[in-house]
Amino acid sequence: MANILNEENKHVTAFYRNVIHIVTREERCLGRRTFIKYIIRKIVGFASTLALLNAINCKGKNTRMSKNWIWITPDLEATDDDWKRRFEKLKKAGFDALLPELYTGRAAYYCSNRLPVKGELLERFIPIARSFDLEIHAWMWTMPCMLEDIQKNHPDWYNINRLGQSSLKKPAYVDYYKFLCPAKEEVHEFIQDTVQELSQYDIDGVHLDYIRFPDVILAKGLWSKYNLIQDKEYPQFDYCYCETCRKKFKEQEGIDPLEIKEPSEHQAWLQFRYNLITDLVNNKLVPIAHEKGKLISAAVFPNWKDVRQEWRTWKLDAVLLMLYNQFYLENAEWIKHHCEKGIQTLQHNTKLYSGLFIDKTDKFKEYVIKSFEGGAKGISVYSLQKLEDEHLEMLTQILKFY
Ligand SMILES: [Zn+2]
Repeated sequence: MANILNEENKHVTAFYRNVIHIVTREERCLGRRTFIKYIIRKIVGFASTLALLNAINCKGKNTRMSKNWIWITPDLEATDDDWKRRFEKLKKAGFDALLPELYTGRAAYYCSNRLPVKGELLERFIPIARSFDLEIHAWMWTMPCMLEDIQKNHPDWYNINRLGQSSLKKPAYVDYYKFLCPAKEEVHEFIQDTVQELSQYDIDGVHLDYIRFPDVILAKGLWSKYNLIQDKEYPQFDYCYCETCRKKFKEQEGIDPLEIKEPSEHQAWLQFRYNLITDLVNNKLVPIAHEKGKLISAAVFPNWKDVRQEWRTWKLDAVLLMLYNQFYLENAEWIKHHCEKGIQTLQHNTKLYSGLFIDKTDKFKEYVIKSFEGGAKGISVYSLQKLEDEHLEMLTQILKFY
């Protein structure tokens, strides 16, 4: 309770300071009569704000402007009652949108006609989420593909690094970095079919994850985990040099990318690969979701060049910018900076949400506040499974002010 009051006081004080500042500035610019009218309008406005804050405290009503999301990894052990309890807690804490992981690159967690089905979580989630007035956005992996059928029958769909190694046989970093090549029409069709299938459901949106190339340079905090120093782009992590990519680029620019001396500095070659992903998003996936009346969002990187993800040009409804500062060895201020920078660079009518990786409660609280200070329309939390009651309590107190 003390915290709630402190937060409220901070808001009232900040607002009051703001009014004084505006009034002083305007007095200099306006004549006396106009100035008196102006003052009356400001006082009325201030009174309404106080009434609003009072309403929050007295009635506990939701007057939030933000939209807050949470990623949910599959859990087939949990019963419907477990999910009801979890969703109810999320709703009370200030969450609006659920992101259940429904296609993991290995299996589907909905009744798919074309992918191996491991469970029917989506069918179970829809009525429960609706009963708590929560949105559902189907979280799907986009480029990595671990399906046996595709590995066996379409090995040529996988991308190739600058050493000529396929991500199917020799994936970078981890076994699941088996990314498909975004230059191939068959790959587009395969991904489009998943978006199409999910869009048939009574959901609010589709959420694209791993809509990118493998990281040519990993976030700095992960280097020690893989025993690497990535001070530049190394060929084993640099994709894609498959026949299709080489041929298309040569037709366009007159040079085989394998002959480029410094690929990391070759603007046309970099842009060619950004465009492959952008084309898939803007011209193939966004239209399918929108045609079915669904929103479409993506999980995007702050270091977008390292994953060839020029998301500022994407015609999405929302980007969930993964500001996992811990992986970049950065602090809360970095989160604010990237929210501001991201919002400035977006070229379409796309809303930016701050993707946060859970941390100790006091630190996490700071990440949330900095996200809103940076102008984010809300937060997206990774993940439900990592969220503890202490985090929920903190979010309940904070989110109602945004
Ligand atoms: Zn390729």
